Amino acid sequence: MKSVSTHSRSSRLASDARIAEVEATFAGHYIGYQYHAVEFLVGHLADLSRQFRGDLQEMLVLASEPICSMLKKQMERTMIGKCRLAHLIVLLAVCFLSANFSLAQAPKANSVLIDYGAPSSPAHQALDDTLKQKGALERIQKLLSPFRLPRPLTIRTANCNGDINAWFEVDAVTICHEYIEYVVESAKSWKRPGWVSEHHAIMGAMIDVFLHEAGHALFDYLDIPIFGREEDAADQFAAYMLLSLGRQDTPQLMAGIVYIYLNEAGIRDFSVLKRKRLRIVDHKQHADVHSLPLQRMYNTLCLAYGANPALFKEAVERGALPSDRAEGCAEEFQQVEKAFRILVQPHIDLEVLQGVLASDTLSLGRKVLP
Ligand SMILES: [Zn+2]
Repeated sequence: MKSVSTHSRSSRLASDARIAEVEATFAGHYIGYQYHAVEFLVGHLADLSRQFRGDLQEMLVLASEPICSMLKKQMERTMIGKCRLAHLIVLLAVCFLSANFSLAQAPKANSVLIDYGAPSSPAHQALDDTLKQKGALERIQKLLSPFRLPRPLTIRTANCNGDINAWFEVDAVTICHEYIEYVVESAKSWKRPGWVSEHHAIMGAMIDVFLHEAGHALFDYLDIPIFGREEDAADQFAAYMLLSLGRQDTPQLMAGIVYIYLNEAGIRDFSVLKRKRLRIVDHKQHADVHSLPLQRMYNTLCLAYGANPALFKEAVERGALPSDRAEGCAEEFQQVEKAFRILVQPHIDLEVLQGVLASDTLSLGRKVLP
């Protein structure tokens, strides 16, 4: 027993010395430890806030309050002399900023901004004037307003130095003046077939490009998982959105989209598609992240036919959509509808959506662009 007691006393002394050593080290690095502790907690709270949106996010902010309060008490107990007040101020500031950061990140509707970029030529000036006169960006802004976004998204037109393009990048959708000009010229072309009007050739293509790029933006903003190629998913999103608007001229707008893809493929009309051999396209087109223009046309048309076979039966009758493909289009549409319902719909503010649908946002009038 004695030897045990001696051993116990000496081990307690060693333990006390070790504690004193740790306390001395801790005191020497006290500020750093406290900062790391706060940084660690705040970092995780911020990560959690980003993962959970809406009410859950606010709940996390509320949950952070007792943690901050606990930290404050802990610091009061362990504070050393002059450091106490300075540390308290820093800690409370971090807690305050953390809470405000989380609230600022709460996803909300009406988060789309617009920006008409400066035109670089008289032709683009006329284009810009008409877009503004018709409130084109304002209408797209309103159409996208029901989506609850974690940060603002800008929709803009821009001069792209001759590049006929459109893209989503760094929280902004950009549609080049050159792309709009290309759509207008295609619509005005004598090559345009009789089954699509100039008005719908412009409207269909414009709605499609804005919604396609908005699709990319929402995939990014809402962290939506994608099986398959993102470009195809963005096409599906655009087609689904257009079909969901329930506009009376949906078939005519769809004809406008079909025309722009046919035009891009260098094909004048569906009759050409019945030929046994089409020209071989550049291998780079096969390697592109986008599907080929004709594939994009068939995919979009298939969703339209799948959504409403009676309304789009002409697509099969005219030979625009092969009957073999048409057979499975209802299933293809249901697949997209299911993905939208599960992945996108929870991010829609239904009250704002009701207002948008009631105001017929995309009705731009008969003559849209010069
Ligand atoms: Zn794209």
